[in-house]
Parts: sequence; C-alpha cells; structure tokens
Amino acid sequence: MYRKDGWGVDSQKAKVYKAERTTAAWKDGRMTVMENIKEVEAYARSVMGDDVVKSKYKELDLVVKEITRKNCKRASGGASYFEDGHVGTMTRVISLPAWSFFKQLILHELAHTIIQSQYKVLSIAFDNKRHVAGHGWQFCKLYLDLVDKFLGREARIDLEMAFEDNRVKFTQPKERKVIQ
Ligand SMILES: [Zn+2]
Repeated sequence: MYRKDGWGVDSQKAKVYKAERTTAAWKDGRMTVMENIKEVEAYARSVMGDDVVKSKYKELDLVVKEITRKNCKRASGGASYFEDGHVGTMTRVISLPAWSFFKQLILHELAHTIIQSQYKVLSIAFDNKRHVAGHGWQFCKLYLDLVDKFLGREARIDLEMAFEDNRVKFTQPKERKVIQ
C-alpha cells in the first residue's frame, strides 16, 4: 500500500517509538544529553564518516539543525528528518530539539537518511514509489545495525527485544507461497 506521495504506509511508526523508549540506551541518553548542537553534529558526522556506513551511503550533504521555539513555529517537540531543496541540489536535514541530543535518537534519524539514500528517494524511482515505509522493516534492520556498531551489542539486543515485544518487524517478511 502506498500513500499519494509514493511512500509506503508507515504502519510501524508508533510501535517503533514505543519500543525504543523502553531501552536502557534511550533512557540513559535522555538523562545525559549532549551539551549543544555542535556536539550532535560531530557525532552524526563521525557515524556517517565510518567506512561501513559510507559504503551504504553515497552522499554526505547532511545538515544538522537545532529546533527551537524561535525557528520552528509548529515544533511538535520531536526530532525529524527531511529533505530540503530540489532534486539535484537536495540537502538532507536532521533537526532535533535539545531534549533529543543523544546517541540512540541521532542514530534513528541517521538511519532515515541512509534508507532514503539506499532506496533512491531523491531521484524519482522508476514508478515513483519508494517501496519502503518510513519505519518499515528495512529502516528497523538498519537502525539495529547502527545501534550494534555504535552503541554495542548489548544495546542492539535490548532494542531488538523491545521490537519483538512491540511486534515491530525488522527482517524481510517471508514470501507467502500460493497453495493451489
Ligand atoms: Zn523516525
């Protein structure tokens, strides 16, 4: 199922949010947020500059912005990822309010940027469909891999268990065989 804008229906979003908030890395992160957006940016760039990550991600035109009441009238209080500009001159932007300056949440937003790149959503896909949902299994699988690499195996297991508890899919669904 696709929405009018070509994205898959994002049916896992609420479950992903709920699951990630139960992990130790998330709770610890919220208690010890980074001091400023510069620190967030440095962390994001170190993740995106990693060789394994770079092999999955071609462009590094990433902008990291702080959301404040001044610069965002309709700030919902959450972090987000979006693209700014036009095809060809597109900038990938992650914007975060101060409460969200911690590693696991930054990895969540970076996973969105990588998934967008992998599924070529900047250029118009051949049928104008993205073939992935915002928080679909592909996103969740990559998010787990980033957590594993940058927060450690324990944090990965923690998040994976939280996904399972909340019935979040993070592996490719098996193809259903048609029985005749
Ligand atoms: Zn998200």
